Amino acid sequence: MGQSMRAIHDNLQAVRGRIAHAATAAGRDPLNVTLLAVSKTHSTALVEQALAAGQRAFGENYVQEAVEKMDALAGASIEWHLVGPLQSNKTRLVAARFDWVHTIESGKIARRLSEQRPAGMAPLYVLIQVNVSGEASKSGVAPEHVAGLANAIAALPNLKLRGLMAIPEPGAARARFRDVKILFEKLKVEFNLDTVSMGMSDDLEDAIAEGSTMVRVGTAIFGARNKIRSAA
Ligand SMILES: *Cc1c(COP(=O)(O)O)cnc(C)c1O
Repeated sequence: MGQSMRAIHDNLQAVRGRIAHAATAAGRDPLNVTLLAVSKTHSTALVEQALAAGQRAFGENYVQEAVEKMDALAGASIEWHLVGPLQSNKTRLVAARFDWVHTIESGKIARRLSEQRPAGMAPLYVLIQVNVSGEASKSGVAPEHVAGLANAIAALPNLKLRGLMAIPEPGAARARFRDVKILFEKLKVEFNLDTVSMGMSDDLEDAIAEGSTMVRVGTAIFGARNKIRSAA
């Protein structure tokens, strides 16, 4: 069911409150944690309501669905983030339409995005997705391969590596968040990184306590997800 206008506004306020509380409890400045509203499966109308409530950064998982919302909201001041897996047949559209990609897992995809980023656009901001869950996850780059991929991305003219992203398996999250932050600290200076994308509706407090600078929140803002219309 759709959420009322007031509900989206109130949910956003509540999530902002949780972020502020978690940051303060960790001795951190809440301004150093960006809220990314993950709007996958939710309507353009709900994105507009979040926009009206002051939200600017939105995350989507499915490229086609995202582009439909971008077209419907053309002219709105929105920063679009791809947080879902990216296949090579979608890189051209992603390079042309998104501001950020959180799910870089290979040099091949990174090269395509750089080659396909249209001239005149700002660099595409990218994060390397790290697999800190081992066998429990098929997504992301093994920690020992992250520096090599970071080097490859650093050589690409139209990408700017901003940091790391992770989706730890539920339950063990806090220790895995710490693993991501430790890896980030090792690479931060060399690659001039500033972003650690981790934490979702259920675990954003733990992620912030461990150093997240960007939480990706869907359900706590928009309610339960609708059925997925398309696989990509
Ligand atoms: C859907 C999704 C989220 C949001 O998850 P919630 O639990 O609804 O907050 C965050 N990150 C990624 C990568 C997602 O796919």
